[in-house]
Amino acid sequence: MTFHAFLIKYAEIAIKGKNRYLFEDALVKQMKLALSKVEGEFEVKKEQGRVYVFCPEEYDFDETVAALKKVFGIVGICPVVIYEDQGFEQLAKDVVSYMKNCYPDFHKSFKVYTRRAKKSYPIPSMEISAELGGRILDAFPEAAVDVHHPEMTLSVEIREKIYVYSETIKGPGGMPIGTNGRAMLLLSGGIDSPVAGYMIAKRGVKIDAVYFHAPPYTSERAKQKVVDLARLVARYSGPIRLHIVNFTDIQLYIYDQCPHEELTIIMRRYMMRIAEHFAQESGCLGLITGESIGQVASQTLQSLAATNEVCTLPVYRPVIGFDKQEIVEISREIDTFETSIQPFEDCCTIFVAKHPVTKPNLKVIRRSEEKLNEKIDALMEEAFRTTEILEIS
Ligand code: ATP
Ligand code: MG
Repeated sequence: MTFHAFLIKYAEIAIKGKNRYLFEDALVKQMKLALSKVEGEFEVKKEQGRVYVFCPEEYDFDETVAALKKVFGIVGICPVVIYEDQGFEQLAKDVVSYMKNCYPDFHKSFKVYTRRAKKSYPIPSMEISAELGGRILDAFPEAAVDVHHPEMTLSVEIREKIYVYSETIKGPGGMPIGTNGRAMLLLSGGIDSPVAGYMIAKRGVKIDAVYFHAPPYTSERAKQKVVDLARLVARYSGPIRLHIVNFTDIQLYIYDQCPHEELTIIMRRYMMRIAEHFAQESGCLGLITGESIGQVASQTLQSLAATNEVCTLPVYRPVIGFDKQEIVEISREIDTFETSIQPFEDCCTIFVAKHPVTKPNLKVIRRSEEKLNEKIDALMEEAFRTTEILEIS
């Protein structure tokens, strides 16, 4: 069966008032962007409070649906067959042939739902539904009409042409990228941070990312893994500006000057400071991390408070209350899991102490950081200056 168009359903963004068109425009923009990567011509159009993708040329159905399934804001994707309006008798024949094509041995309960967008059509919608229902029953004697809880709803939209659809493929939900500002994701090579980025992007937030690289302690392959993860997240979030910060000198300096059991906390405070610098530079309104309470020593409430203290922007931690297994499930769904578990070293694990503090005392941490006064500003400047920026799409 050839489908000529897709009707796009969106729930959350069908909000009231003036904002509605902003949301629809953002949705259309993101759909166009997603479809630009699929071979073929597509026309994305807003029409009478609905969004359609028209497919005038040959196209790959699976690829097209896969692309649309990554556009936040889409709740359902309905493949539509479009028929010329050649009178009711022809419509009845077309609907029966649609059914025969889509459901060769149909024997379920169903209803026909007609929407008459073209008011000049001579038959009222209730009558169209009833008559078409009868024709379907004639063709499929095992089927039954159930208007309250049908197993299948056949929708017929009368416009200049006639649109027929009955399937809804689930979309990702959420809100279109670009409707909720921008935030900076701290992206490591782990499982949690790509999921965190995905979750915030799903709320319509455009994301940028920062990765702390510590050559030669972390390899080119560890960096490549983060680039790969950014690319996987970008399939949903759209292009990501990935900042790759050379963190080695700062880490070595902290290692030389500060108590080893406080290394992780102090290092994380510098990560946040640097991330915030780039966030502010790119107009981001928040930071995003993959932290989850109690997962490791640096994610106890005390540690999180110590890390948080240095931030002035809000820090969004969408997986904060999730178990590892729950995060893994999402990472499998969005296809980042296999990349995340590749065994390359991370800058945090290399300088990790045998017995890191789990309940850092803020006053103690601040005092330890004073030992960095001599060189840390220059090292931070150097890190800002040497940061490599990659456009990932
Ligand atoms: P992930 O959370 O991605 O699985 P992880 O479990 O190793 O990594 P931690 O090392 O405790 O987590 O880091 C917590 C959070 O800090 C990460 O989710 C990520 O947001 C950020 N982070 C950690 N290391 C880096 C890094 N090298 N570059 C950028 N962000 C990092
Ligand atoms: Mg983690």
